[in-house]
Amino acid sequence: MRKPVIFGNWKMNKTRDESKEFVEAIEKVLDGKENAEYGVAVPFTSLRKSVKKSKNLLIAAQNCHFEDSGAYTGEISVPMIEDVGVTHCVIGHSERRMMFGDTDETVNKKAKRLIEAKITPIVCIGESEAQYDAKETESVIRSQLNGSLKELDPNAVKELIIAYEPIWAIGTGKSATKEIAQNCCAIVRDEVKNMYGEDVASKVRIQYGGSVKPENIAEYMACEDIDGALIGGASLKVDSFTAIINATK
Ligand code: 13P
Repeated sequence: MRKPVIFGNWKMNKTRDESKEFVEAIEKVLDGKENAEYGVAVPFTSLRKSVKKSKNLLIAAQNCHFEDSGAYTGEISVPMIEDVGVTHCVIGHSERRMMFGDTDETVNKKAKRLIEAKITPIVCIGESEAQYDAKETESVIRSQLNGSLKELDPNAVKELIIAYEPIWAIGTGKSATKEIAQNCCAIVRDEVKNMYGEDVASKVRIQYGGSVKPENIAEYMACEDIDGALIGGASLKVDSFTAIINATK
């Protein structure tokens, strides 16, 4: 059985004190809850404080560089996030692919370096609205996975998390129907099977992301190939993240 895994992605939101208050509040909610794994991907500046305050809530970075050090102004390396104690790192989010030049190739390099450091990558993929309209969703999903998950240790692929986030559903309130989300997550699992075989595909956890909120989380979680969610806007407030936690079976 795959354990559900729910992550908030705060994007560029929250100061250190705001992060600390959130983590403290959610820790109270998580006390004794073992049905699923819960975490938040926080800004770099909030990582240390969040890690210190967390016990059950997993803390993720939102990006990393694949090189360990060097002349990369503004970048943060894997040893640096390892040093602050994070367990997970989001890579290849569509906002990074669209605005900051991330590609399948750099996402693959980041995944390899994270795996080496025993930090779990949360690998994001998903098609644009134009690709969706042109019925290219399936080919985009398969090709992003082929590039991003190329030549990884199969045992590490079993442990990583893939977030399928259609770009047209991110921050728009226009969430994918549960049928679309399930169908696309099944394609993700099928492509992992093509790349790494049945056993790995049956173990890898796949999240849906895109306008997930307390009112719709349960219907996604009921889908066969959806093992969790990556949540933006609705993860920013303690009340709505708590409602999401409470709605997750
Ligand atoms: P929203 O939940 O705000 O649509 O964002 C989804 C997302 O991009 C999470 O990474």
